[in-house]
Amino acid sequence: MLSRDGLLVRVRLYSGRLPAMVALRLAELSEHFGNGLIDLSVRGNLQLRGVTETKYKGLVTELDALGLIDADATTEAMRNLLVTPFWTAEDGAQEIAAELEARLGEFPALPGKFGYAVDTGVLPVLRGASADVRIERVDERLVVRAEGMKMGAAVTVGSAVDAVLELCRWFVDSGGVSGGRGRMASLIKRGAVPDARFQAVSMADSLEFVPRLGRVAAGVLVGFEFGQMRAKTLAALARLGDMRLTPWRMVLLERAEMPDVSETIIDSDDPALRVVACTGAPACLQGLRPVRDVARRLAAAVPIGKLLHVSGCTKGCAHPTATDVTLVATAMGFNLIQGRTAADSVLRHVTVHELLAQPELLTEAFDAS
Ligand code: SF4
Repeated sequence: MLSRDGLLVRVRLYSGRLPAMVALRLAELSEHFGNGLIDLSVRGNLQLRGVTETKYKGLVTELDALGLIDADATTEAMRNLLVTPFWTAEDGAQEIAAELEARLGEFPALPGKFGYAVDTGVLPVLRGASADVRIERVDERLVVRAEGMKMGAAVTVGSAVDAVLELCRWFVDSGGVSGGRGRMASLIKRGAVPDARFQAVSMADSLEFVPRLGRVAAGVLVGFEFGQMRAKTLAALARLGDMRLTPWRMVLLERAEMPDVSETIIDSDDPALRVVACTGAPACLQGLRPVRDVARRLAAAVPIGKLLHVSGCTKGCAHPTATDVTLVATAMGFNLIQGRTAADSVLRHVTVHELLAQPELLTEAFDAS
């Protein structure tokens, strides 16, 4: 993908795992072929920034040598897989993810955004992340369900992928794809219902999962300002061991000790986590002004438990859903939006000077949100 700071190269890891040796090499590749900046995506991928067109081919060769390039582009485009980062050796997540990745060649042609969530822990943690087919757990049973359905089919670790494939074939046969686009939830919303087998087990509702940084059973969860790290940070983390990627722009380190690596966030109350901001200008071609420095300077004014989204344009890439307060860049400053998305109606316009000189403007907006 072309950006103003060069090509953005998305690297899809297998089964959500980032082995230490692969991470170390990716850090080297980011320095050598890119600008040394690495983004974490909400789909659990890494993105190397600032790759020049002349170096792109060399980078792909190196990624291939690491085993990160699929045999063909079609299969790679279908490898949209999220795996619970809290998986254990007993919950089947890694076996199911590996089989699903290995069998994607058997699947029908699906839209580019169509994806899967392997979320087989005791409680689902990926429901806030985009997926079309989910593999979850109800008590001791594994269940495959279509996004948008509150029921699913009981499966085992060995039969889960067959059920996923069946559901995907049903999605295509039922008219889920139109002009190369389509999502499972939209098809279900239009009244389509998969066969009775996929209505056998009722799913429990769950509260939205909010990840907390620090120690967890599987290791240590760490965050990064704006979900971005430098190559040297990735290299330092790699020296501590293997990692797992998440859809929360956080990384789970497979170790018990807290890391001491600069530029990582290990406290969930860190104000840096109360702001999200896209790349903005000048790195993004659509960005109307720089946003991250403004977000950084406003973070302390964001109340605990609230979220401020600062966006370079109305596309709102960093947070497509609603936030408490959103600031959208304009030629003259920012549009202030309450409790909605970057594309929604504007409450008022503020200049950068007003925002930074009068933080009470933001406080009032949060109070009213
Ligand atoms: S929201 Fe706009 S400025 Fe920000 S990254 Fe997306 S397209 Fe670029």
